[in-house]
Amino acid sequence: MSRSNSFIAGPLCFAATLVITSGCVSAKKYEALEADLGKAQGELSAARGEIITLLGAHGCAPRLPLSAFLPEWPDPAIRDAFYTAFQRAEVAIDALRPGDRIRPTLVRGSGVALWHVSGVIEIPVQSDDIGVVYHEAFHGAFHGSALHRGDNERWGEGLCDTFRYFMEERYHSTTPSPWLVQARKALAEPDVLRSDSETVIRRYVLPMVLIVKHVDTDYATFAASWRRWQDEPPDLSKLFGYTPP
Ligand SMILES: [Zn+2]
Repeated sequence: MSRSNSFIAGPLCFAATLVITSGCVSAKKYEALEADLGKAQGELSAARGEIITLLGAHGCAPRLPLSAFLPEWPDPAIRDAFYTAFQRAEVAIDALRPGDRIRPTLVRGSGVALWHVSGVIEIPVQSDDIGVVYHEAFHGAFHGSALHRGDNERWGEGLCDTFRYFMEERYHSTTPSPWLVQARKALAEPDVLRSDSETVIRRYVLPMVLIVKHVDTDYATFAASWRRWQDEPPDLSKLFGYTPP
């Protein structure tokens, strides 16, 4: 797909998913299909196949196929759970204006979480840390975006964690991960973070807290800000009164 085509694919796809009469995947239909993902293995595969078929039939950008997702992983249940989360991330990122998003080419299990410019993603596969896929998936959006320039690059980890926070709240809020529990605590006590010297706090947690508060803990506001920032990238450190290391 050419750059100009991929530039418009996201918004077009997003619009189509919201129009129930268009024949594309309606929000209601999509949610029903997602509910199916919690059922038996056979039903799960069928529902997932239908989602991908319907999305593909209406010109939405191709998603990472299951064959390229943890291909060597021995436990199909955990692989399916991670793949479902990864698909949600891809759909959400395409519904933002993804710009020149760098698309994932392979996700493999690893001892570390790493995003590569080639599109290869490494993730530690731990059942209580599924949210890592949201963070790593968003690196592709950030690195292809207008914000990946100059000093704004410092905000990449905070933006990826912001996306992770909203996705975990949307899909995993009733059984929060240890990461989400910590994120909620950080959001409740932002001033404590300012004096923390730990790199992970200063590079990931505090920037995430500042961004989430800036958008009033509202994903739609974050999405609107993200799109606006692509047209006119602000100096994020000036905007937030903070410079991540
Ligand atoms: Zn990262």
